[in-house]
Amino acid sequence: MDEWPQILRGSLRTPEEISARFGLNKEMIRKVARVFKTQITPYYASLIKSKGDPLYRQVVPDMAELERTNGVADPLDEERDSPVPSIIHRYPDRLLFLVSHCCASYCRFCTRKRKVGDPSKIHPRYIEEGLDYIRNHAEIRDVIVSGGDPLMLSDARLEYILKELRAIPHLEILRVGTRVPCFLPQRVTPKLAAMLKKYHPLYINVHFNHPDELTPEANQALGLLADAGIPLGCQTVLLKGVNDDPVIMRRLMQKLLIARVRPYYIYQADYVEGTDHLRTTVEKGIEVMDALRGWTSGLAVPYYVIDSPGGGGKIPVLPKYVQTLDENKVVMRNYAGELYAYPQAQGTPKKRPRKEKQPYVDPCFGVTNVPPIG
Ligand SMILES: *Cc1c(COP(=O)(O)O)cnc(C)c1O
Ligand code: SF4
Repeated sequence: MDEWPQILRGSLRTPEEISARFGLNKEMIRKVARVFKTQITPYYASLIKSKGDPLYRQVVPDMAELERTNGVADPLDEERDSPVPSIIHRYPDRLLFLVSHCCASYCRFCTRKRKVGDPSKIHPRYIEEGLDYIRNHAEIRDVIVSGGDPLMLSDARLEYILKELRAIPHLEILRVGTRVPCFLPQRVTPKLAAMLKKYHPLYINVHFNHPDELTPEANQALGLLADAGIPLGCQTVLLKGVNDDPVIMRRLMQKLLIARVRPYYIYQADYVEGTDHLRTTVEKGIEVMDALRGWTSGLAVPYYVIDSPGGGGKIPVLPKYVQTLDENKVVMRNYAGELYAYPQAQGTPKKRPRKEKQPYVDPCFGVTNVPPIG
């Protein structure tokens, strides 16, 4: 028998349980829980060392969540790109497929908290519609199975979905997004890894936000997935009082590599209502990126992205490395702040006059004032 359902059943869920454990006001928790579900696995709760520490801040409800002056329910305008309730189709060749409303624990900063934890919003009956939508859209070559957390489904239920997806001829790769290796690593069993392995090419993106989350248990879970040949990436959210510190973020990225996970994205926290107390400035994100590139393995350097409010998708943001760029040379600064020049190839096409002056987002350089080349 798997031990994880038993562990999950022992989660802190009710205002009584959470207030007793952390010495908080029960009525406050009750109010917050009405806005967004509360749940903390006993495993994750055991990693919390003190009130207000980086792990605590991610999962323990806070009064500040009731402040709704800033932020919106659906900052990424996902509903606009949702042709059926289980699908978010924003990009040309790939989409998100929401298959589970549950998570092992509920992140207080969740972008999709308008839906997550609510079975009426992400319901099993929407799965068939989602599969049909993907079958009928031949341009889709990459599906990201998400939620909620897909690994909260039973092995059989998850396998049904993966099997149906694999049978769709135009689907090239499958991806699963999950925070289970962080919140409930016991759920990653050899049996689960053996099942997932049948649906290659399959990628998994995990979600870790602090080096203390990479425990021996988490490392073992990640090792099982890596041994099943599943390339692992990590999506980290930049959060105030959690990882808004270059030293902590660098250690997190390094510990992910030790666990065979390649950091993929660091997200600027989305503009979600009731999460102001967890958001940082964008300058902080740029500072963190500046402290990664060059100072540690390039493998430890993910993309820092802002998922644009209004549904424009993820936009990479980089420290400004290019100082000047003209027909003759590009002047850049290196990671340590020293300037270097690279001579341009001769016969570089003349720059076209710029139509209007506005910040330009370059796919390589991020937000920069450097105009497009050629
Ligand atoms: C993040 C996201 C994807 C995947 O983007 P990648 O950059 O390919 O990882 C796809 N669809 C939506 C709606 C997303 O938010
Ligand atoms: S695990 Fe993901 S979907 Fe679930 S609450 Fe956290 S951020 Fe939201």
